[in-house]
Amino acid sequence: MSIDTQLKQFKDAFNAELANVSNAETLEVVRVKYLGRKSAFQDILRNLKDMNDEERREAGQAANAVKEAMQAAIESKEAELERCRYDHLATDERVDISLPGFAWPKGHLHMTTRAIRDIQRIFERLGFTRVRYPEVEWEHYAFDVLRMGTNHPARDNWETYFIDAPVHEKFGRMILTPHTTNGDVREMERGELPIRTMNINKTYRRQSDVSHVPMFHQFEGLLVDRDVSVTHLKGLFEHFAKEFFGPDREIRLRPHHFRFTEPSFEIDVSCGLCAGEGCRMCKQGWLELGGAGMLHPDVLRAGGVDPDEYTALAFGWGVERTASMRSGINIADIRVMYKNDIRFLEQF
Ligand SMILES: [Zn+2]
Repeated sequence: MSIDTQLKQFKDAFNAELANVSNAETLEVVRVKYLGRKSAFQDILRNLKDMNDEERREAGQAANAVKEAMQAAIESKEAELERCRYDHLATDERVDISLPGFAWPKGHLHMTTRAIRDIQRIFERLGFTRVRYPEVEWEHYAFDVLRMGTNHPARDNWETYFIDAPVHEKFGRMILTPHTTNGDVREMERGELPIRTMNINKTYRRQSDVSHVPMFHQFEGLLVDRDVSVTHLKGLFEHFAKEFFGPDREIRLRPHHFRFTEPSFEIDVSCGLCAGEGCRMCKQGWLELGGAGMLHPDVLRAGGVDPDEYTALAFGWGVERTASMRSGINIADIRVMYKNDIRFLEQF
């Protein structure tokens, strides 16, 4: 058999096997079989030594051409296999390892949660302990013991949600608590004096507009001890305002009326936008924070505390409202705080 015929048969066999290769592993097997050091190709080359110079030169060139063609075929098969592998992947699965890394956005706590933690920290340093009382509450604790018996018109200030449940003989109807003051008498009933507690909880009212959400948070401070006075109240708020809002913020007390405190006050904090000058966010430089006062003797009695021996101060404010009065914050519609819109949330 002439060397040309041998080379042709060898090349045909190679081509036939290569056509069936469908992955890199079998491609390597074919490469070793046809071009490796122990391949049949080497046997063909060995026959060259019996030829004369002229024949050997021609046959050598022919063998070389076959070898180069096979190498080229293997390389092109390799590229084809790589292309197929890539094409079978969905576009978003392709990984270009030469691209720079992608930094995932970092989240942070909701502004309400951060405000709650800040408030808790400020009052803890003053010796207050955080407590929690029921969100689903009896009228007894939310109204009756706070000197707002059934049908008292003051109840209208709280747009209350009622639970569809049997009326309790002593505690009345079941409600979603409209304020955190519901915990004051519960705390006193525990019978441990003096008291320094901070009740931070969800509260519910049937209101929804630019400055109200049906579910919001309040924090209620309660201080029951001998000789507690309005001076303590003022000192507490001055400290709180500077800690929470910043050292340049001032507070003032305005006389007000609540059923469960006597005397009662509304607490204002100086506006963080205009620094007391007066702007469209505030009333002549002041923002209303919330209510406070000295607990009425009847409320102390309802909690089993002797008002001749002890006095108490209490204050209850909205967390969202307080948080939105921080310097530089201007929220046109408070409801956006609970719409889970990342464009809003990521700003705070
Ligand atoms: Zn202002």
